[in-house]
Amino acid sequence: MTRATIIGSGPNGLAAAVSLARGGYEVRVLEAADSIGGGIRTTEATLPGFAHDVCSAVHPAALASPFFQAFGLAERVDWITPEISYAHPLDGGRAAIAWRDIERTAKDLGADERSWLALLRPLSSHIDGVVDFTGNQMVRLPHEPVTAMRFAMRMLEHGTPLARRAFRTPEAAALLSGVFAHANTPQPSLAGAAAGLLLAAQGHAGGWMYPRGGAQRIADALVTDLEAHGGTVETGVHVRDLASLDWGDPNHGDVLLLNSSPRLALTHPDTPASYARALRRYRYGPAAAKVDFALDGPVPWLDAQVAQSPTVHVGGTREEIWASENAVMAGRVCARPYVLAVQPSVLDGSRAPAGKAVLWAYVHVPFGSDLDATDLITAQIERFAPGFRDLILATHSVPASDREAINPSEIGGDVLGGAFTIPQALARPVLSTHPWRTPMRGVYLASASTPPGPGVNGMAGWHAARTVLEDAGRPSMLTELFA
Ligand SMILES: Cc1cc2nc3c(=O)[nH]c(=O)nc-3n(C[C@H](O)[C@H](O)[C@H](O)COP(=O)(O)OP(=O)(O)OC[C@H]3O[C@@H](n4cnc5c(N)ncnc54)[C@H](O)[C@@H]3O)c2cc1C
Repeated sequence: MTRATIIGSGPNGLAAAVSLARGGYEVRVLEAADSIGGGIRTTEATLPGFAHDVCSAVHPAALASPFFQAFGLAERVDWITPEISYAHPLDGGRAAIAWRDIERTAKDLGADERSWLALLRPLSSHIDGVVDFTGNQMVRLPHEPVTAMRFAMRMLEHGTPLARRAFRTPEAAALLSGVFAHANTPQPSLAGAAAGLLLAAQGHAGGWMYPRGGAQRIADALVTDLEAHGGTVETGVHVRDLASLDWGDPNHGDVLLLNSSPRLALTHPDTPASYARALRRYRYGPAAAKVDFALDGPVPWLDAQVAQSPTVHVGGTREEIWASENAVMAGRVCARPYVLAVQPSVLDGSRAPAGKAVLWAYVHVPFGSDLDATDLITAQIERFAPGFRDLILATHSVPASDREAINPSEIGGDVLGGAFTIPQALARPVLSTHPWRTPMRGVYLASASTPPGPGVNGMAGWHAARTVLEDAGRPSMLTELFA
């Protein structure tokens, strides 16, 4: 039986693992950490009984992913789909709310009702076309050219200074800017608009869902399937050098897949100089400083609707959010930064003891920053939820400079697997129609540093596995493997 060794048990590593195990390979996953899942782990990082997501917390991309649809993730995990996809508190106790229901969202936005509908209805009602376009641009022409064209036009409109003219109300402007800021890019920018429009459209399509019990449930579902097909995962194995790793014989069809940073490929003895140069050119970008909070009760947001929203974009007006994100690009962190916060216990009582709550939050920071963001995040949340500070039972802070110790793929604390720019969306990590295949025989890349990039969608892992199967002369469809 041919062997597949996969370095890393993140969602892409496990997606590749289950695909190849079902495709007849003897699969072994080697994981540096003591637990399985990479970006989809959940731990009691603060106090017993408080379940915090280590990385990914909300998963707009998961059920929209062709891989996870074929895998049947909707049925294997208990999903919570909130009525509110994301909320955005503003000073004075008001807030803008992105309901999953686009009409309701638009109506609440008053003078911007038509603008919101015009922007997002054509995208959310063709979400498969949007996901296809944003996820497959290097592989083939889009399945829905009209949707792709519309998406590209909207990118130009909202990813350039034209964005200032988009809305009349501060609520609509702030609401969209909070989504665009997920991308950790300059604002406005084409890359920020691409990521933001996809997320905003998903907010009105499948919604911003998350698994009851935490992201770990996704990893558990993948590992259950892997083990049912004979695969194994070994934890506590940090692979530092491919030259000394026994992964079989590529001449007999054995393969090695890197769910790690592509930089690990530089340790392969046969890496051609040109490929090594291209990998070294691949840039890691701004990072995240994250803090988990164990709370004595729900966050006391001034606006009651914000209290019902699992995801909250904290940071005030569009101008403040743009200033915060652009400061990071200039190597600084604002005194009142954009905070991405998730309060899963709003709809999931299993995440904390009765009456208590968990809060997950991060701010963007420059590459490698050692900033402990606890005070900055606390002050920003206190601004819109007075009394928050008094509820804090315990905190767990992870500066960007510590992220590599948790996950060696997060170079300098970059949580996106490489800076998210338009050039790096195309050359991820190198310019190729099949960036998952390396020039080294039997070696493949299977991480968010390959298309379609970051987010828990498993697609990079599936593309890598598909490429392995094609190279072995056994092209396979997702529907065949997961029938
Ligand atoms: C703080 C944070 C918040 C996020 N929030 C969200 C969110 O809400 N929604 C969303 O969709 N996405 C989110 N993301 C992004 C998402 O988690 C990633 O895009 C996704 O996990 C990438 O998957 P992956 O399989 O490519 O890599 P990873 O999940 O990073 O997994 C890589 C695995 O490989 C292992 N590894 C690396 N190098 C080695 C080595 N040399 N030897 C052995 N093992 C190795 C690592 O330990 C890790 O387990 C977030 C990320 C972070 C860090």
